[in-house]
Amino acid sequence: MKKNKSKQEGQQKLLPLKTTWQVYRKFLALLWQQRPKMVASSVLSTVWRALNPYVGILLSALIIQELCGNRDPERLFFLVSAALLSAAAISLISAFLNRFESIEMAGHYYYMRKLLSDKLLDMDYCILDDPETMQNHSTILQNQNGGGWGMYRAFSLMKEWLSALFTLLGGISLTVTLFTCKVPETAGKLTFLNSPLFLALIIGGLLLTIYIAPLLSNKADSYYAIYSGSHTLANRLFGYFGFMGTEKKYGTDIRLYRQDLFCVKFNTDKEATFCSKGFFAKLARGPMGIFAAASSAVSVLMSGVVYLFVCLKAWAGAFGIGQVTQYISSLTRLTGGLSSLISTTGQIRINGSFLKQIFDFLEKPDVMYQGSLTVEKRRDRKYEVEFRDVSFRYPGSDQYALRHVNIKFTVGGRLAVVGQNGSGKTTFIKLLCRLYDPTEGTILLNGIDIRKYDYREYISIFSVVFQDFCLPDLPLGQNVAAATEYDEALARFCLEKAGFGQRLESLPQGLDTYLGKRLSKDGVDMSGGEEQKIALARAIYKDAPFIVLDEPTAALDPIAEAEIYSSFNDIVEDRTAIYISHRLSSCKFCDDILVFDKGAIVQQGSHELLVTDGDGKYHELWQAQAQYYNDQAAAAKM
Ligand code: ADP
Repeated sequence: MKKNKSKQEGQQKLLPLKTTWQVYRKFLALLWQQRPKMVASSVLSTVWRALNPYVGILLSALIIQELCGNRDPERLFFLVSAALLSAAAISLISAFLNRFESIEMAGHYYYMRKLLSDKLLDMDYCILDDPETMQNHSTILQNQNGGGWGMYRAFSLMKEWLSALFTLLGGISLTVTLFTCKVPETAGKLTFLNSPLFLALIIGGLLLTIYIAPLLSNKADSYYAIYSGSHTLANRLFGYFGFMGTEKKYGTDIRLYRQDLFCVKFNTDKEATFCSKGFFAKLARGPMGIFAAASSAVSVLMSGVVYLFVCLKAWAGAFGIGQVTQYISSLTRLTGGLSSLISTTGQIRINGSFLKQIFDFLEKPDVMYQGSLTVEKRRDRKYEVEFRDVSFRYPGSDQYALRHVNIKFTVGGRLAVVGQNGSGKTTFIKLLCRLYDPTEGTILLNGIDIRKYDYREYISIFSVVFQDFCLPDLPLGQNVAAATEYDEALARFCLEKAGFGQRLESLPQGLDTYLGKRLSKDGVDMSGGEEQKIALARAIYKDAPFIVLDEPTAALDPIAEAEIYSSFNDIVEDRTAIYISHRLSSCKFCDDILVFDKGAIVQQGSHELLVTDGDGKYHELWQAQAQYYNDQAAAAKM
């Protein structure tokens, strides 16, 4: 066991009681603030469900008592009518409350998921980009989907706890007299049942068994929580390898490289975490099984003690047969309630650490300064951006990705950014769009530090096509406009400008064509080049004063690429354009070229100027590419 223990990773620790209480209070406050009706309907239904069985227990006891005693027809008629009417009223009210609760609970699960995805959508990009953020998010989902831990469980546990409390209170109110009523002196030896010492013993014994049973069952359950790290890892492996075949994009490689063999190892190994010879099976056969069995044994023992005590008192003449049924039923409910209260408290505590994990994620603070200045709306698009001695390190990295960058963009100019992989080009653009703030130095818009502007207003002046752009599975027109309501003529115009005109004509549903088939069976899977054109059209549609294109022709064929170059001025119009490319020949039409090397701007100027500087980086890159084309031309001649 020890050996296995050391192998299992990510063991979850129980929180101190105070922290558990704080995290649940926070959770309740959040629910109450955002879904008060759901909380109210659940509380009402839960309390109602816990208490209403006692009405039936009390009335049945009275009826049996009457039948075994005076058998007064009038009183019997009254009691039976009361039992029938109350049963009907209880059913009616229960149905109403259940309906109310289920309506309010609809979508509760998705609401909880939405809290997490809203946080991802809203957080600073630099936090989103931090691998730890994604790791935390994935762990939360794994715990929720694999072990069922988290917010959803928290709410159901709170309801169970409330139900147990009211079951207990209802039970106490109908069983107090069991302990206070005395057996008559005529009962002989059985008068020991009246002794306070005996009563104390029986109540103490009951409380002890009620306490021990859930404790043992919690101990059994806690193994899942304690080893949630292994659980999560195993789930993640299964989630990946078990469903690899469902990812269409892997289909070709899986077949060509027999990657399905990777999956076999994870999906059929009996020693895998969840399988018959795996870690959790061993736990179930060992300590988990023993604790669960011991808990059941103690519960059965407890029920025996309850029956014996009530029957002895009735036998001794303390009360009639009617009360026997009342005491047995309510005492069974009472002990059940108390036991559930203790076990739910334990479960709440176990779930507390998972709930805290979620709140730590939801409360992860943003780090970027949020300015409030509005960005001046200029018809002439005269927005001037300047990098002033900007240096930048990615969070957690000790290497500078950018070093002492100084550049002022010429309004309406065409600036090309070139350099080898990893030289800092994309980082430069990310800083320009304020996805990160500089580690040192300042970026200014019309002379003011960009951090002082309202973030959304600031980014509205940029149209960017990143290399890893994202087009949702929505209709083409909505993709271009990035909105559900849009100007169709303008969307068409932008697609034509981006070289997608002919393809648009070939689509029977035109702008209403869904991209991909996930949301519509008539959707069309576009090629990489076509997607790149749509992304370009979207950037044109946004009509921002700056247009930034990061390798915009990488997926295009040579003809489409040539078309984009020849119509570049037409596409860009009077916007300030920033063009990142590996292909130096494609930068010739730019007024100014920035050459990046190891995070710094090492050269700046026109193509003609840079290419003549034999010692410069640009010349080196140009020569390397020219060499490639020359070799190809020579090979073609041979
Ligand atoms: P380029 O666009 O010129 O290929 P990048 O700007 O993407 O270069 O990268 C510049 C440097 O920053 C590289 O050394 C790269 O490894 C590093 N880098 C890029 N993105 C991250 C990141 N998210 N976290 C840490 N380092 C990064």
